[in-house]
Amino acid sequence: MQSQKIYPLAFSFECSPARTEAGSEMLLNTCHQLAKVNPCFFSVNYGAGGATQERTFAAVDDINAATSIEVAPHIAGISTSKGEMSTLLEHYKTRGIRHITVLRGDKPSGLHDFGDFNNTIEFINFIREQYDDYFFIGTTAYPETHPLATSAQTDLANLQQKFERGADAALTQYFYNPDAFFRFIDSCEKLGIDQPIVPGIMPITNYHQLARFSDRCGVEIPRWIRQRLDSYGEDSASITAFGEEVVTRLCEQLLAGGAAGLHFYTMNKAAPSLAVWKNLNLSNDKSLRSRR
Ligand SMILES: Cc1cc2nc3c(=O)[nH]c(=O)nc-3n(C[C@H](O)[C@H](O)[C@H](O)COP(=O)(O)OP(=O)(O)OC[C@H]3O[C@@H](n4cnc5c(N)ncnc54)[C@H](O)[C@@H]3O)c2cc1C
Repeated sequence: MQSQKIYPLAFSFECSPARTEAGSEMLLNTCHQLAKVNPCFFSVNYGAGGATQERTFAAVDDINAATSIEVAPHIAGISTSKGEMSTLLEHYKTRGIRHITVLRGDKPSGLHDFGDFNNTIEFINFIREQYDDYFFIGTTAYPETHPLATSAQTDLANLQQKFERGADAALTQYFYNPDAFFRFIDSCEKLGIDQPIVPGIMPITNYHQLARFSDRCGVEIPRWIRQRLDSYGEDSASITAFGEEVVTRLCEQLLAGGAAGLHFYTMNKAAPSLAVWKNLNLSNDKSLRSRR
């Protein structure tokens, strides 16, 4: 974990663009509450193939106007032409956005065109060619291996190339086993990767939804956690309390082990992430967030 310990701690929150006016209000309310703890940035999801483009634009503008926190939109390269991508990047440049989170995305069903980018590596390459160092480029990483990768090694080689082509940092898929993350960083270090790779944290609130989603994206929920969550049935208060305890302990272990920060998947709700934040005794003053 030596490569990670040199970086100042970076805490961030991920949000999704809302579908309705009520959802937009809820998102802004969430961001207001989260802004009080002074995160480094909010990241905003993007539907692959431009599925949520207008809503992502609107969410980025709204959060920018309502808080003083940096906003880092996600951009998915799949099913997009180079021309469309230039227009999108220009849209953000004219708004003064300098931090983006770049990924391939999953092909939306019914869409047959893969676009001009075969993978995230080509996409990062394109952004660096067109914009040099203008953008700080974050990308994705998978401590438990991406479900479509043919092996852990090819997945790591993919990440290595994303950094070689110009990614500055990575945010990981969420996980509940800290050893998976520590081992992953060890493997990255052996390949010479020393950029910050910030662990993704998914608070536990709705067990059945989480279980379905985790199965789809190759995230392991350890058996002992599944069993405890299963035993609570529909008792959502117990699920939330247990989930908060498990996720707090995970974050404590990650920070004690030298992680470069935490990236919370908020699902547009402030309370679950803030509860963990409070349990971790993290200062709301960025300059006082020292490593333990
Ligand atoms: C932090 C984070 C944020 C995300 N935000 C969004 C978002 O805003 N919008 C969204 O749509 N999705 C998002 N995703 C999900 C992501 O789009 C999917 O995981 C997608 O399948 C992979 O995209 P990628 O750029 O992360 O993967 P890449 O880094 O391009 O690939 C990951 C691995 O999968 C392998 N792989 C990928 N596709 C194939 C394939 N077809 N055949 C064989 N191997 C393959 C690659 O070789 C590599 O090993 C996010 C994921 C993370 C971790």
